[in-house]
Parts: sequence; structure tokens; C-alpha cells
Amino acid sequence: MIISTDLRLPSTEYFNAPQKKDLIVLHHTVGGSAKSTFAYWRTDPEHIGTAYIVERDGTIFEVFPPECWAYHLGLKIGPKGVMDKRSIGIEIASEGALLERGGKYYAFGRMAEQTQFAGPRFDNKTVWRDYRYFAEYTPQAIDSVCQLVDKLLTQFSIARQTPASRLDCNLAGYRNYKGVLTHCQLRADKTDCHPGFAWDQLIASCKLKVTDAAKAAGTS
Ligand SMILES: [Zn+2]
Repeated sequence: MIISTDLRLPSTEYFNAPQKKDLIVLHHTVGGSAKSTFAYWRTDPEHIGTAYIVERDGTIFEVFPPECWAYHLGLKIGPKGVMDKRSIGIEIASEGALLERGGKYYAFGRMAEQTQFAGPRFDNKTVWRDYRYFAEYTPQAIDSVCQLVDKLLTQFSIARQTPASRLDCNLAGYRNYKGVLTHCQLRADKTDCHPGFAWDQLIASCKLKVTDAAKAAGTS
């Protein structure tokens, strides 16, 4: 596994203060490339970002040191940033959810020539959070995510576990969760990671224990 530092945020664009990490949260970018997402973070004034962006070809970019932090969850629970601080975010470069109209597919919620999507699609067969179709994550990106998660779990001694329920939001239940989560489990308005994510591969390659969702402290 090669980790590139070619896209590196200056220390003024994240919080350059090491934290204890006990959680990894997976995202997808809803963007054109790792570079375009990085360019946005580079100029936004809000300290938004994740330590890693994984490009479609499998390249892993370490944008800032994983023990540091930036806002990546956008949660309305206090104190502000409490879960952002204790977690390591990983973004998978992807168009994300797709609109379908008349047999054509469109990214970024806009129907235009420039947003037409012709790449491999994941068909969820049923509508989930307003969408049925999603840009498929590439096998190269999935492989890199599996290797990176495995490395970080060891490096930060994070619990090797993930909830069984992958598509339901349960912020109250997960606010103290340690292990591997994805954004849509923490926010009902997010579609990352989408239902096509290779959970079985991640669980097998990182030897994750699958925890009972019902035990994740009660509320919905
Ligand atoms: Zn996200």
C-alpha cells in the first residue's frame, strides 16, 4: 500500500492538534476527483476535510496527519466537533447518488450534459434516501480502503467492529461507538457510503466483528 502526500493541506486548514482516535468513518466525496475535493478543502475557511481521500484508481492521499482532525461529520450534537475529533475520516472519490431520467443517469443532483454519468452503476433495486442508483465504487478504491482501514485500526488500536445495520441512521446509538462507521449511520440526510459499498470485503479483510444494532443503545 502506497500512501501519497502529493495533496497536502497546510496546517492552517485543519486542527493541528493530535487526538486520541477510537473511530473510523467512511464517506464518499460526491465529486469529480480527489484533486477537486482537495482544492475545495484548500480554500474553504471552515476546516472541513478528512485525513484521507481514496481516488478511483486506488491512490490513497493523506491530506493531513491522521492523529489530527478537521470537521467531516456535521453533527448537531455538543460539544461541537466531539465526534470529528475522535474519528479518522476517509473519503472515497465518487459521484455518489445518481438521478435517472429516460434511461440516462446524472450526477450531482443536476440534469445537464456535463453531469451525465456513463460509468458503472450500482442499482439498489429499491429507493433508499430518495435514490435508487449510485456510482459504483471501483474495486481498486475498495481494495485501498480495506488496506488503509486495516492499517489505521492497528496503528491507533481501534476496536475491530462495525454495526450490522449499515443503512439506518442512529446517531444516539452510535455517539460513543468505537470501531468503523459510515456517514449515513450518523446522518439521515446523507447517502455515503451507499448500499453498494463492499462491507463483506471490509469485514473479512479487517477481521471486523459485526455488532448487534439493537445493542447500540436504544433510540432510532
Ligand atoms: Zn460524508
